[in-house]
Amino acid sequence: MKVPFVHLGAQFHTLEKQLVQAFVQVGCSGEYIQGDTVKEFELALAHLCQCSQVVSVANGTDALILALKVLNIGVGDEVITAPNSFIASAGAIAAVGASIRFADVGQDYNLDIQQVHHAITEHTKAIIAVHLTGNPVDMDALTKLTRDRGIYIIEDASQAIDAAYKGRQVGSLGDLACFSLHPLKNLGLLGDAGFIATNNVELAQRLRCLRNHGLISRDEAIEWGVNSRLDAIQAAFGCIKIKYLKQWTARFQNIAGYFHNNLNDFVLCPLSRADDKPVYHNFVVQVHQREALRHQLLDAGVETKVHYPIPLHLMPAARDLPYALGSFPVTEQQSKHIMSLPIYPELSDSKVEYIVEQVLKKIKKLKVPRIQ
Ligand SMILES: *Cc1c(COP(=O)(O)O)cnc(C)c1O
Repeated sequence: MKVPFVHLGAQFHTLEKQLVQAFVQVGCSGEYIQGDTVKEFELALAHLCQCSQVVSVANGTDALILALKVLNIGVGDEVITAPNSFIASAGAIAAVGASIRFADVGQDYNLDIQQVHHAITEHTKAIIAVHLTGNPVDMDALTKLTRDRGIYIIEDASQAIDAAYKGRQVGSLGDLACFSLHPLKNLGLLGDAGFIATNNVELAQRLRCLRNHGLISRDEAIEWGVNSRLDAIQAAFGCIKIKYLKQWTARFQNIAGYFHNNLNDFVLCPLSRADDKPVYHNFVVQVHQREALRHQLLDAGVETKVHYPIPLHLMPAARDLPYALGSFPVTEQQSKHIMSLPIYPELSDSKVEYIVEQVLKKIKKLKVPRIQ
């Protein structure tokens, strides 16, 4: 049996008729940039995120960059994020000229609020709270910390669309929330795409300007902006795909539940709070002898990945930041043991069972103790 880590073609195949129809519709309409299809998709996203405003943009990284820009964050300011995230969570901070500051994470892979507290200085303007793997950050604790300090919270919800924190949808929990609709995310389109969600009408209005050259009309720009619009064709695909998101989320959770029940005695499975709804963009386990295990699994047809093997503060790109090996022990320790199992809605029950069977078999063969 072969279990690839992702299989994007499978989802396309299921929706092929509708997607082709949408392609023809947009093609015939001649409305390729902005327009009604983009607005319709933004409304559907706002409904999903329980937010009054959604501003679609070209990708998730632009969403983060524009969120920082609209909060007037730039040179001389510090922004704190997690060192175990995807590179864009930090890259966006550098892109606006602000200083990247990291705070270590906890056993749930999310920012440790105590560590965030230690990282705050008089220059701290915002926290980028990454809901890594689709598991929400402890937003109440974070909000309590930032509220009286005038520090903004930007959610990096790229991996967490449709997740909920204490019954509230991710995307409605900070000042602004940034999402990616990259093909590999839980709601993935057929190319790059992203959006910003907020309940702040003024910020949303200015974001709509910023993503479109700063233009408030066809001819007049009120400030310097960029070109970061979502293509109408992607919005059309999004309008179709978003209708399936709840059922896909349920499948992610269903597979995660099966993994947890069958694997947790042998490998460390993800932790989440009982009143939250994580969406398992990745199902990350921790194991000893990870590379040996990954090789053996691959030999058995099960492809795994590591999200992410190099902590951000140890990237060559981060050479000028005030960090070194040892700066974030939890992140560094986890980076040696984490391993992501295949998880996507199109994965059949028999493949899910095969993954579990093979992981258990290889773990026993390697005689590795469970990570505590
Ligand atoms: C994917 C991702 C991004 C960037 O999104 P793009 O659409 O690829 O630019 C940012 N942050 C996190 C945590 C991500 O997973």
